[in-house]
Amino acid sequence: MKLLENKTALITGASRGIGKGIAMEFARHGAHVAFTYNASAEAAKALEAELEGFGVKARGYQSNAADFDAAQQLVKDVIEDFGGLDILINNAGITKDNLLMRISEEDFDKVIEVNLKSVFNLTKAVLRPMLKQRSGSIINMSSVVGVKGNAGQTNYAASKAGILGFTKSVALELGSRNVRCNAIAPGFIETEMTAKLDPKTVDSWRDSIPLKRGGTPEDVANACVFLGSDMSAYITGQTLNVDGGMLT
Ligand code: NAP
Repeated sequence: MKLLENKTALITGASRGIGKGIAMEFARHGAHVAFTYNASAEAAKALEAELEGFGVKARGYQSNAADFDAAQQLVKDVIEDFGGLDILINNAGITKDNLLMRISEEDFDKVIEVNLKSVFNLTKAVLRPMLKQRSGSIINMSSVVGVKGNAGQTNYAASKAGILGFTKSVALELGSRNVRCNAIAPGFIETEMTAKLDPKTVDSWRDSIPLKRGGTPEDVANACVFLGSDMSAYITGQTLNVDGGMLT
């Protein structure tokens, strides 16, 4: 069953990893997919072609999610190119890990800008069109680290916890216009972001997860399909943990 037929989605940071997985599942479910990337132009071109293989419209846009004006321009372009926008997935994110003792002001600010301010930028940009059409689903990518904290990731944890407060507030502000806003808190998902981690740490994480494995981009994408589709029409302001039971 195709759950997203006739819907258009904008996914930030979809040139690889979780974002790419979401773009693929969305196209498989019949959604037209606009997506962004920061620097991976070639990967974006290749993904466009892959998505079109599902018979949907697809286009990649180079756009820095941390830039307010760029987000406004992006949403204008997407609506012009696709004729509307039903789902926004704020997925773009980075890490710049260090112990608080060593972290620089620059690395703190950068992570907050790319991970948290970007969510404000894009949500602001889709606000008017979604309010006007009296429907929309906004999905924000938080993290298990935003829920429980993590040593060596004060900047990242602050950005991801900030997303949770932002999500609940947006849900309260926009509910009366049928615009929903939810967050997903992935646990340990095996992508390029986690490939940078020490293999010993990775093994011990896998072992401590009740389902005894790292997650895949598809595991997160399936949760996004649910939250983007009308199957979740009565769900807003929630955080869905996609973590193999990590927080249980
Ligand atoms: P990833 O493999 O490193 O991919 C990051 C994506 O974000 C890339 O497409 C990248 O584009 C894009 N991006 C980076 N900076 C950007 C910017 N300023 N503007 C627009 N796009 C930008 O990361 P991932 O593991 O898939 O993670 C995706 C999201 O899930 C992130 O928000 C991350 O914090 C969250 N998350 C991940 C895990 C995990 O275990 N992997 C767990 C919890 C939460 P380029 O390719 O052009 O650089």
